[in-house]
Amino acid sequence: MKKTIEDIEISGKRVLLRVDFNVPMEGGKITSDVRIVEALPTIKYLLQHNAKLIICSHLGRPDGTPNKKYSLKPVFEKLKEYLPEYDLAFCNEVIGEKAEKMANNLKEREALLLENVRFEPGEEKNEEYMIDGLSKLADIFVLDAFGTSHRKHASTYGVSSKLPSAMGYLVQKEVETFEEILQKPQRPFVAILGGAKIKDKIDVVKNLINKVDTILIGGGMCFTFIKAIKGEVGASLVDDEKIEFCYEIIKEAINKKVKIILPVDFVCAKNIDDEAGAEIYKLGKIPADKMGLDIGPKTIKLFKKFIKRAKTVVWNGPMGVYEKLMFKNGTRSVAELVAKNKRCKSVIGGGDVVSAVEEFDLIEKFSHVSTGGGASLKLLEGKELPAISVLSEK
Ligand code: AMP
Repeated sequence: MKKTIEDIEISGKRVLLRVDFNVPMEGGKITSDVRIVEALPTIKYLLQHNAKLIICSHLGRPDGTPNKKYSLKPVFEKLKEYLPEYDLAFCNEVIGEKAEKMANNLKEREALLLENVRFEPGEEKNEEYMIDGLSKLADIFVLDAFGTSHRKHASTYGVSSKLPSAMGYLVQKEVETFEEILQKPQRPFVAILGGAKIKDKIDVVKNLINKVDTILIGGGMCFTFIKAIKGEVGASLVDDEKIEFCYEIIKEAINKKVKIILPVDFVCAKNIDDEAGAEIYKLGKIPADKMGLDIGPKTIKLFKKFIKRAKTVVWNGPMGVYEKLMFKNGTRSVAELVAKNKRCKSVIGGGDVVSAVEEFDLIEKFSHVSTGGGASLKLLEGKELPAISVLSEK
């Protein structure tokens, strides 16, 4: 087990906290401060326990060069509003003399926000000078940026290999939730998979087949599975290179007595812009010039049987092209079915499902909404997250 902030002595210590302040911005203004609000419990805990706090984060993709557009200054102004009782300073550098001086001058219960770590070319390359520069600023490192913990960056992986370290509350909740559902899930355990790209989900399917009771497959990825069992898919999305993989998975599922449930009808059209031409076709009846762009009503009924009885649901990838009105119903219905099942622990991750569920105003109904798409996929694949794997053990 990794240490949490409650396991470490922080009073009077310089604590470097890596958060995810990668907030959406438009014209220099923050359009959603959810990520700042979510980081507050860890920040407040550290300050209340007399830390000298140094906070760092990335914002956008400045690719290793300072760029005003990606400055964390607007985040600093917002953070001050949320922490009026504390002294907060901003350092317009990330590492080096100025940052060191400001960090060393901090008193207990004071905080410093460093400039965007990705202004340094060594950040994403995990270079030694950057790891050293950050490590010099602090005595302890706390990781609370789950969304970047699957990458070996200097301010996540690099520095936690150097300093005594622990996870913040956000990372702790993510790790504990995924551990619980993957190691001791309440059954029936149902995985719902969708989205366009099957190649991104191969390792997830491979891992989940050993964990779940049922996999419901929708989205564009279902057509490669249908093709694997010689079904007709019209002009739907198929990844020819993965047909064999899907066939093997179906065989493995039969051996392991895991149910793979594929759609039985579809909302189809000539392409994603042909909303006016949307029509429902049964499996096997999709015309050669049409593609399946959402699951149909009979599929929703079929999926309902499994979702209704589930005690654990993990969902990644939309059921159709949810961005378009005519192809949104499958994703909305599945979201409503999961939301309705109050006995079930429901976990969603991945940008598309999270934005769809947000749009349907159902986010509050899910037990856990992961803050990291790529990182949560890695956990579903059964892999370790590099930046978390190097944190200090209890
Ligand atoms: P992914 O990044 O692989 O999770 O894919 C997400 C995207 O899949 C979304 O933008 C959806 O519009 C798209 N999608 C979902 N279902 C389909 C489908 N049946 N055909 C094509 N694209 C789809």
